[in-house]
Amino acid sequence: MSSILVAEDLSAVGGISLSAALPVLTAMDYQVAALPTTLLSTHTSGYGQPAVVDLATWLPQVFKHWTTAQLAFQQGLIGYVGSVERCQLLQDYLVTQKLALLVIDPVMGDLGKLYTGFDDRYVAAMRQLVQLADVILPNVTEACLLASVPYTEALNLPQLLAACQKLLKPGAHVVITDVTQNDQIGCAWLTPDGVQFVGEPRLAGHYNGTGDTLAAVITGLLGRGFSLTRSLELANQWLHIAVAETLSEHRSDGRQGVALGGLLRAILTLG
Ligand code: ATP
Ligand code: MG
Repeated sequence: MSSILVAEDLSAVGGISLSAALPVLTAMDYQVAALPTTLLSTHTSGYGQPAVVDLATWLPQVFKHWTTAQLAFQQGLIGYVGSVERCQLLQDYLVTQKLALLVIDPVMGDLGKLYTGFDDRYVAAMRQLVQLADVILPNVTEACLLASVPYTEALNLPQLLAACQKLLKPGAHVVITDVTQNDQIGCAWLTPDGVQFVGEPRLAGHYNGTGDTLAAVITGLLGRGFSLTRSLELANQWLHIAVAETLSEHRSDGRQGVALGGLLRAILTLG
C-alpha cells in the first residue's frame, strides 16, 4: 500500500475537496494522510458565509510531529491552500520530503477571476509552490493567472501551456482541466508533438467538486503507474460518470458535490 499526503480544505458539508479525495484515494488502495489546510462548516458555493478556522498555527505542529514520528509519504496532492502563509508552510515541509509524485491543483480562481480573498501575493506564492510539482492541474483561469497571461475568450492554448510549463521543473507537466473542444469538456497538455486533448461529452449544468475529484483521480492513477495520457482518459471517463449520475438523481439541493457512487465502482473494477 502506498501512502499519500492530501492537503486541502475540509468542508464539513458539501462533499467536495478532502471529503471527496478520501473515498477516491482509499478506493485506489492508498493510505491517505488527510491534512486539512483550513476548516469550513460548508464549502463556499451557495450556503452563505461558512464558519472558518485558519489552521496556520496547527500545521507547523503537525509537521513537527510527523518529523519526530519519522513519517514519510510516497505521493502528495495539494488542493485548496487558501493563504500565503499556509502555502509557505506546506512548501517548507514538502522540500524536506522525497515524494515520488507531487500533484498540485492551484485552486485560486475560475471564470477569469481570482476567488474572493485572493490577490497577487497569493498568485506569487502559488508560483513558488508549483516549482515543487510533477504535475499541476490549473483550470484555464488559474493557468492564465500563473502565467500572467490575460484571460480572454479566444484562448491560445499552445501559448498558455508553454508559458505555464516554464514555471515548472524540467519534466513536469501542466494539465489544464476545464478545456472545451467542440461539444467535449476535458484536459489539455503539451507534448513535443503539440497540444494533446482528452475529453468526454459535456453534460448540462455545473457541479461542485468536479475539479477536486478529478485531481484526486488523476493523482491516484499516476501514483499507481498509469501514463499521463491513460490517467487523463480514465479520469475524464469517470468524471463523466459522476456528472451523469448526479444529473440522474434530479437533486432538489444542487449544492452538494457530484455523486461518487458510480465513480467509486469504476475505480474498484480496476482491481
Ligand atoms: P473547479 O472549478 O472545481 O476548480 P476546474 O475548473 O478545474 O474545477 P471543472 O470545470 O470542474 O474543472 O471540470 C473538471 C472536470 O470535470 C472536467 O475535465 C470534466 O472531466 C468534468 N466535468 C465538469 N463539468 C462537466 C460537465 N458539465 N459535463 C461533463 N463533465 C464535466
Ligand atoms: Mg471550473
